[in-house]
Amino acid sequence: MDNSVLDIAVVGGGINGAGIALDAVGRGLNVALYEADDFGCGTSSASSKLLHGGLRYLELGEFTLVKKALAERDTMLKKAPFLIWPLCFCLPHRPHLRPVWMIRVGLFLYDFLARPTSLPSCQFIRFDDHQVLKNDLLFGFEYSDCWVDDARLVILNIMDAAERGAEVRNRCKVTQATRKNGLWELEILDLQTQTRFIRWSKCLVNATGPWVEQFFECISSMIPPCSVRLVKGSHLVLPKLYEANKAYILQNKDGRVVFVLPYLDRFSMIGTTDIEFKGDPIDVSIDQSEIEYLLNVYNQYFQNPVSFSDVYWSFSGVRPLYEDASVSAQKVTRDYRLELDEKENEAPLLSIFGGKLTTYRVLAQEAVNSLFAYFPHMGGAWTECSLLPGSENITSFKDVEDDLKRRFHWMDCFSVHRLATTYGARVWVWLEGARFQNDLGQSFGFGLTQREVDYLIHFEYVRSGDDLLWRRTKLGLYLSDIQKKAVTEYIEKAIKNTLEDHSSFFNFI
Ligand SMILES: Cc1cc2nc3c(=O)[nH]c(=O)nc-3n(C[C@H](O)[C@H](O)[C@H](O)COP(=O)(O)OP(=O)(O)OC[C@H]3O[C@@H](n4cnc5c(N)ncnc54)[C@H](O)[C@@H]3O)c2cc1C
Repeated sequence: MDNSVLDIAVVGGGINGAGIALDAVGRGLNVALYEADDFGCGTSSASSKLLHGGLRYLELGEFTLVKKALAERDTMLKKAPFLIWPLCFCLPHRPHLRPVWMIRVGLFLYDFLARPTSLPSCQFIRFDDHQVLKNDLLFGFEYSDCWVDDARLVILNIMDAAERGAEVRNRCKVTQATRKNGLWELEILDLQTQTRFIRWSKCLVNATGPWVEQFFECISSMIPPCSVRLVKGSHLVLPKLYEANKAYILQNKDGRVVFVLPYLDRFSMIGTTDIEFKGDPIDVSIDQSEIEYLLNVYNQYFQNPVSFSDVYWSFSGVRPLYEDASVSAQKVTRDYRLELDEKENEAPLLSIFGGKLTTYRVLAQEAVNSLFAYFPHMGGAWTECSLLPGSENITSFKDVEDDLKRRFHWMDCFSVHRLATTYGARVWVWLEGARFQNDLGQSFGFGLTQREVDYLIHFEYVRSGDDLLWRRTKLGLYLSDIQKKAVTEYIEKAIKNTLEDHSSFFNFI
């Protein structure tokens, strides 16, 4: 049993928990993060994958949030240039929906609030004859936001935190938290080994996202200081719907907007919905009515209609929105609230309500700043200019692609692009020394090799097939069932070996 006392124990390995652990350890604090399942397996892998100001939030008067989020787009572009890139959005005009003047004012404000920015400002566009949109759509507007792989953004923060000395563990559920003698006593269940252990901490951070209220049941004699509103959102993934690498933002007559986004190299994504959710967020899944809704909005705008049979995959997540008593789900604020529970001579509890992927870094910074009174010797804010793992000495994924093409003539274009946009410069950690395909060991399909799988187990905390297929990579969309089974069995065997004899595995790396 580890009897040392942590400064901060973070519960929840979604983007907010990961960001807080990284921020805190970088300020010299002794930090641990425990995640019940896999890092990023909750809402943080089910988002629309946009780092955006949120054009629609302007209608709700959320100017402060939009400004903060727009600034973060630029900050994040520099922190992980291989994982995040600008994406052009086309907003077709429909005369019976928002009037032109309103859209112009909104986009002018969006540009204004974004200043200074490296992204292009908005512009008016006329559609030509060869467009993918319906012929009655004559003009629209274009503006820019950013794209990110959400689950990988989480793991990069986790890796960075671990490299700076934090203890980060997935498959470790915090089952009980008790205030004792000025500290938190945490009871943690390691779900892999089915063993329980105890950790002590001076401060506890509840970053359990949609479970933030439910987690209070694990804390003796405490009730949640505020509520979250759980709002489900789903996305459809279809084979690529058009060639251009641009996104569409489609207005619907209910006042909502639906995105159509290029997804990986072979797919398009349509989302999202906004539906009140009751129950355990772990059970979230898409309804028939959501599929109909999303297909219907798409079909109102695009020339080639799509139907149920075109849907290749779907995913759903639950937004943990801070409850501000709004009437409809789409009007609830997307901003966050930090609740610090302080009692004399007792250890503090910080709970995170709401938030967005886009603003996780500033949320984490504010969260750690709020603990200055408890850790007066800790460092100041530092994450704005630091790089996330894989971003060392590169300006975009293209730098890594060029290197890969130069050094590995035998590597196919799909793999070159996938590896560059997944790992950035970290690809060399496991590719260094390899000269031929055979040097990479067993091949699982679509360029996935034994060396990559071993790297993911060793450095990126992969513990199951799903961790690799759906979060560290999206190869689940490409591999056949037989190939997925082979990957899963390989990982299960490797993990079993590791648990039996920790020292003998990974010797080759
Ligand atoms: C459909 C949809 C689209 C979205 N699109 C965008 C977007 O495009 N851009 C954007 O900026 N934001 C977007 N968001 C919002 C964003 O995804 C969320 O705000 C963010 O992911 C929340 O992260 P989190 O860390 O708070 O929660 P989560 O990612 O859910 O993490 C919480 C973690 O806590 C763990 N946990 C729970 N209980 C315990 C316990 N007892 N012990 C240990 N671990 C525990 C869970 O397993 C989970 O992994 C979207 C959200 C949804 C649902």
